[in-house]
Amino acid sequence: MRTPSNPIEAAAVRAAVKRAQSGQASRIDPDPVLHSHDAELQWVEAVLRHRLSLDSLGRPVSIRAKDDDTHPLVADGQHFPAVALSIPFADGTLNFLATYDDDRRLTFDLIGPCDRCGKPVPLEEINCLADLGDHLLQTRDGLGGSPRLRTSAAHADGCPARGN
Ligand SMILES: [Zn+2]
Repeated sequence: MRTPSNPIEAAAVRAAVKRAQSGQASRIDPDPVLHSHDAELQWVEAVLRHRLSLDSLGRPVSIRAKDDDTHPLVADGQHFPAVALSIPFADGTLNFLATYDDDRRLTFDLIGPCDRCGKPVPLEEINCLADLGDHLLQTRDGLGGSPRLRTSAAHADGCPARGN
């Protein structure tokens, strides 16, 4: 694994090691509540901030959120776009996609280059800091990718990683 290059990745690796050693997921409080439909992007941003425990890092972390023009908000949806989130650092950016899963729970995928076509696709479902750490360490069993990896329209035409 490459060395964690920013405070979030370093905290994620610590959280993953702690979860592996204790054998239990750390408890996370319920997500923030959406107060106004006008503010949905800000709400999604707040949920990501909450799930990744960014306020515990002891330093400000900025997140940019905007509509995603490639993925739908719900599987097979057409009317509402997913939300693209990015956390910029001096030396790079962590990119996430927010969608609703089949249980209508807001869920986050880490976006990164497809192994096969190189396009930015949903790689791994990341819903807490330890999930991100597992991904960075490549330790989680069945790290086989997000359910959105095979369905993403972001793959290049004909990419073999995209299922039917
Ligand atoms: Zn691909």
